[in-house]
Amino acid sequence: MSAPVLILLGPPGAGKGTQARMLEEDFGLIQLSTGDLLRAAVAAGTVAGKQAKAVMEAGQLVSDDIVLAILKDRMAQPDVAKGIILDGFPRTAGQAAALDVLLAEAGQKITAAISLEVDDEAMVGRVSGRYTCACGEGYHDEFKRPAVAGVCDKCGGTTFKRRADDNAETVRDRLTAYHAQTAPLIAYYEGKGVLERIDAMGNIADIRTGLGQIVAGMAA
Ligand code: AMP
Repeated sequence: MSAPVLILLGPPGAGKGTQARMLEEDFGLIQLSTGDLLRAAVAAGTVAGKQAKAVMEAGQLVSDDIVLAILKDRMAQPDVAKGIILDGFPRTAGQAAALDVLLAEAGQKITAAISLEVDDEAMVGRVSGRYTCACGEGYHDEFKRPAVAGVCDKCGGTTFKRRADDNAETVRDRLTAYHAQTAPLIAYYEGKGVLERIDAMGNIADIRTGLGQIVAGMAA
């Protein structure tokens, strides 16, 4: 059987990144987040990063060409043979079509596209309050504080950061972009017979369990 290819769909704040990291831990898969790859390109000051920076700060989508180039680079690395969780990709019909071609060339196909179903209004609060430890562990001012204030539960680190685009105004623009360009992909994957839906308004542990059941069911 070829390695699993999972897609997590959902608006900003739905929990794609959090759940992707948990699926990595639970199933040994590799999280591929185009947002993380783009932020790394911005931080490194690459040509693609320079082009993407202002677009990301405005809460708009970066061009398919740039996103596909960085994703292809990442997919050329050997660890992806373990199976992947695509987090934040595809986000447009063009990206979905390009992914189909990329996978077909590699003799792979989509195992499941899982839609994390949430209420938009709650997303503004979820995204505005979030921050991350340098080790990658995510926290939230209200919903997920570290056990000891200012100290990461996972690595003991004390360096945290907030994303430039995680403010209420930009979140609304990101939600608009999601509904205009990404939400139609739910019907696209439903048509392909690979769509799963999960209620993602509950607590993180319950959603992790639900997702785990879906993924384990696919492997069975
Ligand atoms: P994320 O970390 O997934 O919330 O993405 C942060 C920002 O990076 C988005 O608001 C977009 O500007 C950009 N981005 C991430 N992934 C994509 C993608 N697949 N297509 C276009 N832009 C993207």
